Amino acid sequence: MLIASYRHLSMAGWAWPNFRPVELACKCRWHGCRGEYWQEPVFLDALEALREKVGRAIRNNSGHRCGVRNVLVGGAAKSRHRRIAVDISLSGHDRHAVLEAAIACGFTGIGGTPAGQRAGAGALDASSRGPGPSDESAGI
Ligand SMILES: [Zn+2]
Repeated sequence: MLIASYRHLSMAGWAWPNFRPVELACKCRWHGCRGEYWQEPVFLDALEALREKVGRAIRNNSGHRCGVRNVLVGGAAKSRHRRIAVDISLSGHDRHAVLEAAIACGFTGIGGTPAGQRAGAGALDASSRGPGPSDESAGI
């Protein structure tokens, strides 16, 4: 469900203690974007399960993208970030363990998200960032 701003979301009943809506909302604040957010409990359940399986904090680099931001970052028209997906930092994590945990938690699309493909929990895209394996990130 699309929400114009994460600030409009009631925290009563928020069931995902390791994540906050602001972390998953669009961060651009351009052209009227006030932190657009996509609320999807199935995705959040999977993300919380991933956090528990990994056993450590998961740093999210990018979550929902409003239309303007998606264009500006070169996102695919049908990017999962237009609803909800996250790019997580793999820094300090065992990359393979995170990927295996993501699969076990129901994430799909690892390594890329074919246009138009939909999945139950979300997508996992892995990409390299920075100079070495300790600075990689993955998106779900
Ligand atoms: Zn935005």
